[in-house]
Amino acid sequence: MANMGYMKLIFLGPPGSGKGTLAARVVDILKVPHISTGAIFRAAIATKSFLGLRVKAIIDAGHLVSDRITIEMVKERLAQADARQGYILDGFPRTIPQAEALDGFSTVDKAVDLDLSDALVLERLSGRRICRKCGFTYHATFNPPKKADICDTCGGEIYTRDDDREKAIQERLEVYREQTAPLIDYYRKKGLLVEVDARPTVDLVVENFRKALGL
Ligand code: ADP
Ligand code: ADP
Ligand code: ZN
Repeated sequence: MANMGYMKLIFLGPPGSGKGTLAARVVDILKVPHISTGAIFRAAIATKSFLGLRVKAIIDAGHLVSDRITIEMVKERLAQADARQGYILDGFPRTIPQAEALDGFSTVDKAVDLDLSDALVLERLSGRRICRKCGFTYHATFNPPKKADICDTCGGEIYTRDDDREKAIQERLEVYREQTAPLIDYYRKKGLLVEVDARPTVDLVVENFRKALGL
């Protein structure tokens, strides 16, 4: 495959639209690290670090972690060597202040918006299953592991996130509409917005993504 050049991408779109799934597929195409703020928080919770203990209740309830904590964490992560030339930021920024802060320490090439209706979001989130060990994302119906509750790639245990339960899902959708959806216009005004239809199968979403970015 031809060298695509390194890119700095952010993935927008509601929870459950397929940001993490698409990112995991395109890291091989783009040769940049996949940086998921949600995954970093979940890893911190799993090790019961100071950060993890601070954010667990907030995340389980479907609220956003404070801008101060999140911005600092991303700033540090982007300063690491592997992210200097390019990255996929999955789940950050999620608020206008986060986007403004990001403008201060990095230069985004494109903002990819994965568009999906609430009904389909619900269908995806209520069936989402995660590997405790490697973080790989499955779906009970659309992408089940070969052996029930066991990760195909690492043999880890598969579980349902505490924030993928009805009440937290509703809360996250509301938070998305109020705080994150305004970022679509923010990046459109900068001329960086790329819209990708998140409804089709994963393979087709990957294909649409490539076309939309001219890859
Ligand atoms: P999803 O993939 O369902 O959109 P994530 O894994 O990206 O969820 O994030 C899980 C949770 O972690 C969020 O609901 C929020 O509590 C917290 N979180 C992740 N990214 C951010 C962020 N940029 N700002 C604030 N909180 C965040
Ligand atoms: P996000 O990172 O935006 O929260 P995920 O990548 O975790 O979304 O996907 C949410 C759920 O939907 C997961 O269970 C995943 O396996 C499933 N999923 C992702 N993309 C698709 C797709 N194109 N078609 C069907 N299911 C999908
Ligand atoms: Zn695994």
